[in-house]
Order: sequence, then structure tokens, then C-alpha cells
Amino acid sequence: MIVGIASGKGGTGKTTVATNLALSLNGKVQLLDCDVEEPNAHLFLKPKFHGSESVGIPIPQVDEKLCTFCGKCGEICQYGAILAVKKKVLVFPELCHGCGGCSLVCPEAAISEVMREIGTVEKGVVRGVDFVHGRLHVGEPMAPPLIRAVKEKTNNQGTVIIDAPPGTSCPVIESIKGSGYVILVTEPTPFGLYDLTLAVDMVKALSIPSGVIINKADIGDRGVDQFCQRENLPVLLRIPLERRIAEAYSRGEMMVDIYPEYKEKFRSVISEVKRLIGE
Ligand code: SF4
Ligand code: SF4
Repeated sequence: MIVGIASGKGGTGKTTVATNLALSLNGKVQLLDCDVEEPNAHLFLKPKFHGSESVGIPIPQVDEKLCTFCGKCGEICQYGAILAVKKKVLVFPELCHGCGGCSLVCPEAAISEVMREIGTVEKGVVRGVDFVHGRLHVGEPMAPPLIRAVKEKTNNQGTVIIDAPPGTSCPVIESIKGSGYVILVTEPTPFGLYDLTLAVDMVKALSIPSGVIINKADIGDRGVDQFCQRENLPVLLRIPLERRIAEAYSRGEMMVDIYPEYKEKFRSVISEVKRLIGE
């Protein structure tokens, strides 16, 4: 079973939920941190890494001895990443999505492909949990190919937890695509509600069933609860605003180590998810 953990915005406790969930479950568990721009699950879990591999995308390289500067490569590129100007073909590597379209249409076979590294995938293990995350190079705009590389490490055994990036943009969709269920982590405030509505629209568009964990559940107002009721979204867990939880977080410690009773609560969340999706 693959469970995505997402939130409409950062700072709602998404990674806290993903990491504590991973440590609470029995059996085979894998955690994929797909927040490749700012991976931070490892800061809490402190896995022992045992493997790393480079991830790149193929970008065009033009042999100007073969090129007739016909411009067909630039015409097909939807991203403005290659452009024929007079007696030169310009390639803008940061804009290239590595689709290969330009080399396919080149009538002179003047385009070959070279790999441009965009980041790395690292694998590790912690307390019996298989851990994988991606690290996108600083300033690199192409997160989705690296997220796909992280997800290729899915072992399809037991429970796979995907810690998605915050927000509702392409990297989030790439991360949660293929999940059997998505847990949306939110806070009971008007801002939390606004971001939750966007996140709910996103999972609906992907036809993935979802439920909600309300963090800092004893602050704010009833707006999130009323929205969940209206939308028939199950509230799977409420985590109160506890000084000791916040202090543990700031020290990079795990909530389930401070409050072991939360292990059972997180296990119940997954049992409920299984019941809801009929697993
Ligand atoms: S399509 Fe091929 S031949 Fe035409 S400009 Fe591009 S690289 Fe040169
Ligand atoms: S590989 Fe695709 S995105 Fe990159 S330059 Fe060629 S057509 Fe454009």
C-alpha cells in the first residue's frame, strides 16, 4: 500500500507525520522523501546511508559540422531550450526537459544526447525502515525527474510512505501520483483551511481518496472540521499543540520517542486507511 503525505503549504507538520508514521508501523515499511528541493526527513530519522546514485536528464548536443541550421529543433521544442540562429544552435540546458523531441526531428542526425546531472538519490535504513530521498542541486528547476527516480526505488512490499513536497504544484502531483491514499496534514486556521481546499481539489483531480490529520488541533477555529464534514473527509488524527512535541521537533527528535502512545495512534491511522480503501 502506498500512502502519500501532503499538505497545501509548508510548516503544517507533514514531515513530522510521515516520519513518525514510518517508525510506528509494524512489518515492512519504506519512506520515500520526495521533497527533493528541501529534503528534511533524514534530519529527524538519521538513517544510515548505504548507497547514492547520480540522476540526470538527457540534453541535446549539436554537431555543427552536420547541422544545416534548418531550425526544426527549435520549432518542436515547447520550452525554448534549443534555438537555431544563423550559423549557430544555442542550447539552454536549464530549460531542457530531456524529452528527446529535437533529436528525433533533426533531419541531419546532428543531435546527440548528453546527461546533465540534476541531483542524487540516496538510500539508507533506520530502525528497520527503508529510507530513500532525493537531493536536487541548488538552483535546479527540474524536480519531477528526480522525484521519479526516488519513486523508482519503491519496493512495493508492506507500507510505502511518500513525504510529498508542500503545495499543489507539479512536484507534489508527481510525488503522490500512484498512491492508494493521501493523508493531508493541516492546521485548524483560516490559512490552513484555504490551503487544504486547494490540496483536496488536487487529490480529487487525481481521483485519489484522502483523509486529514489536523496538527495543532487545539488552536484556531472550527472551519477545517466543518469543511471536512461537508466534503466527507475523514479526520484520521488530531495532534494537539504540545510544548514538548514542539521542543522535540526543534531538537530533531521523534514525537513517538517522546510520546510512545502516539505509535498506537499512528498505527490506527493506517488501519483506518486500509479499512477505508478496502485493503
Ligand atoms: S534540426 Fe538539426 S540540422 Fe536543423 S538546426 Fe537543429 S540541429 Fe541543426
Ligand atoms: S530535449 Fe526536448 S526539451 Fe530539451 S531541447 Fe530537445 S525538444 Fe527541447
